[in-house]
Amino acid sequence: MESAAEYTQRLVKYGARAHKSLGQNFLISDEVIESIVLASTLQQDVPLVEIGPGLGVLTRALAKRVPKMWAVELDNHKIGILNKELKEYPIEIVHQDALKLDLKDLWGDKMGYLVGNLPYYITSPLVMHFLEQETHLSGMTIMVQKEVADRIAAPPGSKTYGILSIAVQISAKVTKVMDVPPSAFWPAPKVTSAVIRLDLRPYQGFNMNRKDFFRVVKAAFSQRRKTLGNSLAGGLGLKKEDVVERIQSVGISDGRRAESLSIEEFQVLAKAFSELK
Ligand code: SAM
Repeated sequence: MESAAEYTQRLVKYGARAHKSLGQNFLISDEVIESIVLASTLQQDVPLVEIGPGLGVLTRALAKRVPKMWAVELDNHKIGILNKELKEYPIEIVHQDALKLDLKDLWGDKMGYLVGNLPYYITSPLVMHFLEQETHLSGMTIMVQKEVADRIAAPPGSKTYGILSIAVQISAKVTKVMDVPPSAFWPAPKVTSAVIRLDLRPYQGFNMNRKDFFRVVKAAFSQRRKTLGNSLAGGLGLKKEDVVERIQSVGISDGRRAESLSIEEFQVLAKAFSELK
């Protein structure tokens, strides 16, 4: 088989273009493609979808390992290329915005797996969109900007720990697979990328309404540098003395900052504030 770089070069010669507005940076490294394939759960009986197949380099590698897969792409021109280049493979190419994709429409009530070198302009909304479909997805292996991967995987106390870390970690176990340099793509992006694996599973002990939980998490991070007493008073629109009393009533110091709180502590805090709306 042609290498990823040769394949891309050939398609570019015949008119394929990379559209920046669609986040198109195509993989040209066979090693990185192989690492993504190895990190993914590819099993005969687990339905597979790739988000944003682009020119199809990763798609070719994935399709060789499964009896059938779906590939969801927004760019009509790339759909034409995929239909022509990958016609020998068992792939159903879907022309759709992945942000509107309902996995149930692909594989009904089964639990499937997702792979994608994601378009960077919508990484977080895409990750959240698929985490919300936890009853139809067992996990995903995705390429994202390294900076986003660091935020997703960040533990409490680290500079990059925030709403995205918490939102992902209450739904999935995060594993970093590898960092990927700009030279692995055509055209080369300005930033370093990273492959991560998310295994979807409910966070142990998480047992509250997500809306109430995130209302408090968002308020706490609304002024990251401020103490909890100040950021929650501002973010929730409550009097500071009431907020301080409430925080202290659950044994948390109001002088701490949001980035130091574990998910368990946020839950305790959010429960304390859930009646105070
Ligand atoms: N998988 C290919 C590769 O690794 O070479 C292409 C990856 S490229 C970073 C992202 C792909 O996502 C592009 O093909 C782009 O057209 C597609 N894309 C962008 N926005 C999309 C959306 N909302 N829904 C589906 N695909 C989208």
